[in-house]
Amino acid sequence: MNVLSLGHSPIEKVQFKEYELYIKRDDLLGYHGFNGNKARKLHFYLCNDFPGITRLISYGSAQSNMLFSLSVLAKLKGWQLDFYVDHIAENLKENPCGNYAEALKTGAKVHVIGSLVKKYGAFNTENYVQKRVLPEVENALYIPEGGRNEKSEFGLKLLANELISWVAEEKIPNPKLMLPSGTGTTALYLQKYLPFEVLTCACVGGAEYLKQQFSELSDNETNSLQPYPTILISADSSIGRNPKKHHFGKLYPEFFELWQELLEQTNITFELLYDPLGWLRMMEYLKGQGGKEINMIYLHQGGLLGNESMLQRYQKMKKNR
Ligand SMILES: *Cc1c(COP(=O)(O)O)cnc(C)c1O
Repeated sequence: MNVLSLGHSPIEKVQFKEYELYIKRDDLLGYHGFNGNKARKLHFYLCNDFPGITRLISYGSAQSNMLFSLSVLAKLKGWQLDFYVDHIAENLKENPCGNYAEALKTGAKVHVIGSLVKKYGAFNTENYVQKRVLPEVENALYIPEGGRNEKSEFGLKLLANELISWVAEEKIPNPKLMLPSGTGTTALYLQKYLPFEVLTCACVGGAEYLKQQFSELSDNETNSLQPYPTILISADSSIGRNPKKHHFGKLYPEFFELWQELLEQTNITFELLYDPLGWLRMMEYLKGQGGKEINMIYLHQGGLLGNESMLQRYQKMKKNR
C-alpha cells in the first residue's frame, strides 16, 4: 500500500440571502491543486500500487478539470499522462490558461486527434482511443472520460463516511446533500453510501440524460434500499411554464451575478460551470419546502482552476454588451 492519501475536508456554516446552510469544502482537499470531486474519483489510483504501469491514458476536453487532476496524479505516481482531445479552441491554443496550461506545466501530453478519428472511421474520441491507442500501448492504465467508472466508488465512499461521521457528531437533524452533476458519478455513489437524500441537477444535458448516466453505472433503481439521487428540475417546468434552458459551458449573466453574490456573502469562491445552476436549483428547492426544517449541505466540488478561462469569457461578454 502506498501512503499517498487525501485527508479530510472541513465543513463550514454559511448564510446566503435568507438561507443558512453548510458547505462541505472539498475544494480545500488534498494538495498540489489536486482537490474536489476529481481527486475523490481518482483516490483509488492515488493510494493503490500499480506494478509495471508507466502511463496513464484518458480523453476529454482540453479545458477540463479532469485533465489537470490526471496530470497531478500522473506526476505523483511517476507516470506519463497521454490525454486525447478532439480539438483545442484557437484562443486556448494561442493563450493557454487554466486547467490546460497547468496540465501542460505538470507534464501532460495532450494529443489532438479530431482529424484522425474521421480518417480511421472511429465514431468519436473515446472510440478512437479504444480502437487505435489502447491496443498499441503496454503498461498503461486507462481511465474513461470524467473518471466515469466503478473505481470512483472508493474515494466517494470515503467522502460519504466523512459526511456520516460529521452529521452524527454534530447531531444534525434532517440533513440533505446537494451537488450539481455532470456525468452524475459523484452524486450516484454518494447516494449509494449516504443514509439521507442526495439532491442534484443536470448541468450537462437534461434530467433524462442524467438518469441514463445513473443507470449505466448502476441498475439499482429497482432496489429501494439504494435509490438514485433526486434530480431537481426548474421550478418553472414543475408549474407548467417553459423553463429557461441552460446549456453547459455557455455564459449567463444571471450565473455570473449569483457567483459574485456568493463570493461577497460567503467569502467562498465557487466554480463557474456547475455551481451557479446547483445553487439556483437548490434555492428553488428550499423555497418550495417552505418552513420545513432541512439542514442542507452543499458539496463544493473544487474545479476553481477552470474559473480562469470562464472569467476571461465573462469579461469579454460584458465589454461587448
Ligand atoms: C467534474 C465536476 C462536476 C461533475 O461531476 P460528475 O461526477 O461528473 O457529476 C461538478 N462540479 C465540478 C466543479 C467538477 O469539476
